[in-house]
Amino acid sequence: MPHEYDAIVLGGGPAGSTVATLLAQAGQRVVVLEKEHFPRYHVGESLLPASVAIFERLGVHEAIRETSVRKPGGKWLYGPNEVPGDFTQSDHRATFKSHPYAYLVDRTIFDNILLDRSAECGAEIRCGHEVVGLIQEEGRVVGVRTVDDSRQKAEFRGRLVFDATGLAALIGKQLRIRKPTIEQRMGIFAQYRADPVREDAKNGWFVGQMFYDGWTWLLNLPDDCISVGVVLPVERFRRIRQSPEDLLDRVVRENDLLKNGMTPNPERVSEVHVTGNMGNSCTHLAGEGWVMVGDSGFFIDPCYSSGVHVAMLSACMAADIFLEQPADAPISPAVFELYERKLRHHEKYVTQMVEAFYMASRNTTLQKIVVFLQGCWVKSLRRKFVTFVGGDFSINAGYISRVYHWSRFAAWAFPNTQTAPEHSPDYLVDNRESDSKPPVESKTETASSK
Ligand SMILES: Cc1cc2nc3c(=O)[nH]c(=O)nc-3n(C[C@H](O)[C@H](O)[C@H](O)COP(=O)(O)OP(=O)(O)OC[C@H]3O[C@@H](n4cnc5c(N)ncnc54)[C@H](O)[C@@H]3O)c2cc1C
Repeated sequence: MPHEYDAIVLGGGPAGSTVATLLAQAGQRVVVLEKEHFPRYHVGESLLPASVAIFERLGVHEAIRETSVRKPGGKWLYGPNEVPGDFTQSDHRATFKSHPYAYLVDRTIFDNILLDRSAECGAEIRCGHEVVGLIQEEGRVVGVRTVDDSRQKAEFRGRLVFDATGLAALIGKQLRIRKPTIEQRMGIFAQYRADPVREDAKNGWFVGQMFYDGWTWLLNLPDDCISVGVVLPVERFRRIRQSPEDLLDRVVRENDLLKNGMTPNPERVSEVHVTGNMGNSCTHLAGEGWVMVGDSGFFIDPCYSSGVHVAMLSACMAADIFLEQPADAPISPAVFELYERKLRHHEKYVTQMVEAFYMASRNTTLQKIVVFLQGCWVKSLRRKFVTFVGGDFSINAGYISRVYHWSRFAAWAFPNTQTAPEHSPDYLVDNRESDSKPPVESKTETASSK
């Protein structure tokens, strides 16, 4: 006998648990089907201040505050220069004006707090249940099939299926509507036992360092743990011919930020994790009987730490739309048109910021322009930037678009003095100038997601 619900949520990450909490709080019968057992590890520890209002709405802010490090902003190192984004410097329209801070979280704890809250509000949580297929009738998704840890099969039916399976993107893959977007990059990351040495990292700042077409990060997590990672093109990883472990060890030894940002000889206390597929999008976010929330709909390179916020924001929007629908009629995909339009807007402008970031990473002239402008930046421009990267993606889109187009123009107009990866032994660790030619742009293949 299939189990009957108002809503079925696939995946118990931030997107799935947010939907489940909001629906359960409104008295809906909702089940979360999650293949892992919580608590479980997940990457994505640097959050945005615009999410704090969502934490309040869900009733989890206090629990998150108690288990995380307060984050006042993010800082990028461009060679020897620093470009900070301080959340207190937002413009008057920022939704986070009254709480200009975010958090650095251990996702094992953070995701568990969110999922526990869903259960507390009345959602049924089934961990160890992998969703393996969709049940479709007359072109409509009416439920899903699962297999649990003891290989028991089951069926779950409901009025709407929320796909919150993250990069696994269950519906996007099953319906073959998920496509790669910008150049394929991958992340390699782990947690280390060490103390931060840099004052900014000690004080909870996100600190990242760009290098040619990639970047590293260092985040001070609770319990003397530091999250460290590197993002680079998949093709370059293949050319380097090192295992992810060896490559990460090397970056920790050689990258300026990681080498000098932690106490010496940091002990790795987690496995080395690898994620590919960074840059994917589905052609639609809703269809007959289903809607996508979070990474399952689209995934943008994480250099601006936008993922968890987009996941929770999209979950709130989709849950609110669901709750507005009459209970006795099927839900038409048309009700998600505005949802799709708003999210596509966020996707477009966050992607433009990411592309501007990578253009700068490949061009030291562009970096100098950014550093120069940063020094004399008109305050209102800086405020627009901080408002956007704090998570208010619907504000200042015109400004972001100008940044993107100016960057394209500057990258075209000024010669690239950056050392090309093929010619520099340091291409993973620093930005160096040379006379060498820029590398030929090339398409990459998708790495498998782990
Ligand atoms: C290298 C890297 C660094 C990042 N850094 C940041 C950062 O600093 N800040 C930030 O905000 N974001 C960051 N992100 C992005 C962030 O990790 C995601 O955007 C965020 O976790 C999305 O939440 P979600 O709920 O959509 O998906 P997830 O958190 O991935 O949750 C999906 C859940 O679905 C479950 N699932 C998958 N398939 C199935 C199935 N078939 N059946 C049942 N359950 C299933 C999974 O087990 C998982 O628990 C980073 C991502 C990467 C790759």
